[in-house]
Amino acid sequence: MKWRGRRGSTNVRTSSGGGKMIGGGIGGIIIAGILWLVFGVNPMTALQTGQMVTQGSSSNSTEVATSSDRDTQFVQVVLADTEEVWGQIFSEGGETYKEPELILFSGQINSACGSATAASGPFYCPGDQTIYLDTSFFREMRQNLGISGDQQGSGEQENQGKAGDFAQAYVIAHEVGHHVQTLLGISQQVNQARRQVSQAQANQLSVLQELQADCFAGVWANRNQQRVQFLEAGDIDEAINAAGQIGDDRLAQASGRTVTPDSFTHGTSQQRINWFTRGLESGKVQACDTFSGAL
Ligand SMILES: [Zn+2]
Repeated sequence: MKWRGRRGSTNVRTSSGGGKMIGGGIGGIIIAGILWLVFGVNPMTALQTGQMVTQGSSSNSTEVATSSDRDTQFVQVVLADTEEVWGQIFSEGGETYKEPELILFSGQINSACGSATAASGPFYCPGDQTIYLDTSFFREMRQNLGISGDQQGSGEQENQGKAGDFAQAYVIAHEVGHHVQTLLGISQQVNQARRQVSQAQANQLSVLQELQADCFAGVWANRNQQRVQFLEAGDIDEAINAAGQIGDDRLAQASGRTVTPDSFTHGTSQQRINWFTRGLESGKVQACDTFSGAL
């Protein structure tokens, strides 16, 4: 993915107020934790309660995350790309796009949705219209998603600007997708509807909301490609691979649980791939009506 040389957003802030997190990690838990870290859902909590945003959970991470200049610049450019694209889409519809803020944090952070740690994973908080990304997220993605074996372990330096960029951008675009849902009033409608239905139906609504955010990420990729031709060979596969690795069925398997469709909150891998692709190929918000026919 090409990203250098474009405008960086001024809506990115960094925060390193948190303390050091200490703890040991065990293989399987780490894998589930990484997926959780990357896509903002604690598989355990998600499976049990259908919550979309999790906070304040214990962490198996041992690192004190710091954001490199590269990562900060990357986030600034991707966020600016989303501002350009969504600004354009909203103005085409006669509306004004209100840009979200993005906070890059390490350790712990307080949001309008409660306090969060790196273990909370990337998330969007509607209350303060802010995307929260912990800095260890990039390292985890480089190590675990979209990176072929020969690049693994070859050092941070060699990975920079190569594999994983677009998968990272996709995650940011997904969170921006939740912001768009908030601006459009979709999130509020979903939250209201969730209160009036069974737990299984509430989870299903969450799935549809998540799939729509994936589709919106695809719409963004389409429109940004038209705007700046930023995609490189392999980028789409990278995002598909990322989407494929974080479906709820995979999360459930990674966490050693039986897959139970009613407890899904992000959709299956195949559903996520399908909706991302639909947004990507159409470039149209209207193609992302995941809700029609729901309930
Ligand atoms: Zn989401």
